[in-house]
Amino acid sequence: MKITVSVTIQADDDVAAVVSDVFTIKRETLEPASMGLHLDEAKDLLAAVQEKMVGEQARAALAQATTCPSCGAAHRHKDARTIVVRTLFGVLRLASPRWWRCSCTPGSITTFSPLAQLLPERTTPELQYLEAKFAALVSYGASAELLAEVLPLGRPLHATAVRLHAQAVAQRLEDELGEEQFSFIDTCPAQRENLPRPDLPIVVGLDGGYVHSSTQRSRRDGWFEVIAGKAIPATGKASCFAYVQTYDTKPKRRLFQALQPPPG
Ligand SMILES: [Zn+2]
Repeated sequence: MKITVSVTIQADDDVAAVVSDVFTIKRETLEPASMGLHLDEAKDLLAAVQEKMVGEQARAALAQATTCPSCGAAHRHKDARTIVVRTLFGVLRLASPRWWRCSCTPGSITTFSPLAQLLPERTTPELQYLEAKFAALVSYGASAELLAEVLPLGRPLHATAVRLHAQAVAQRLEDELGEEQFSFIDTCPAQRENLPRPDLPIVVGLDGGYVHSSTQRSRRDGWFEVIAGKAIPATGKASCFAYVQTYDTKPKRRLFQALQPPPG
């Protein structure tokens, strides 16, 4: 038996759909090991669909940018580069043309690369998310191996890359955290007395632990205290937080943020 998987792309309602075969599997007999897709086949299939889909998305995005939005004149071609985007389902190499900006557009930048502008980051958010999530659970090396085991990443993922990406995500979260304040209480005791009792239960767990260096030389040196906690609202998701007070520059803000009700 031969099974072919095709991708149908309907770019526009007025244009005929384009069907392309992206993947073929052969099977002879039915047995547990031949049933359904193998992991390697599933990875190849996902990678093939991804390549087709992204290629089409890139083509459509470029088609939309070919003319000047102000006067309608076609942008003149200057040169082309290749941009490389890492996704959960493969590394995509996309031809990224550089065009001359229309003379009717004021400004000093004379050329632009529409695809590079649309894809300023070269790792998709989902891949960054999974790398950061795995790196929070196991070592960077094990994260890289696990992700490569189940996903068609398309090129070797090294522990160093996972570490750098996880750190970039952490930095982004840090940057999104608001400024530290001396106090986050903006009401006076009389106002707080008048507040209605919130719905129960309210559960906030807080704990601290000391982490000692294995080569601690004195009682004052080679340790730090970690404060960790969890706030469990009556409805919705619990939020966790942790910080090292002597290191963290925004401990109050971090706690304040963890106690905020989730958006929406
Ligand atoms: Zn123009």
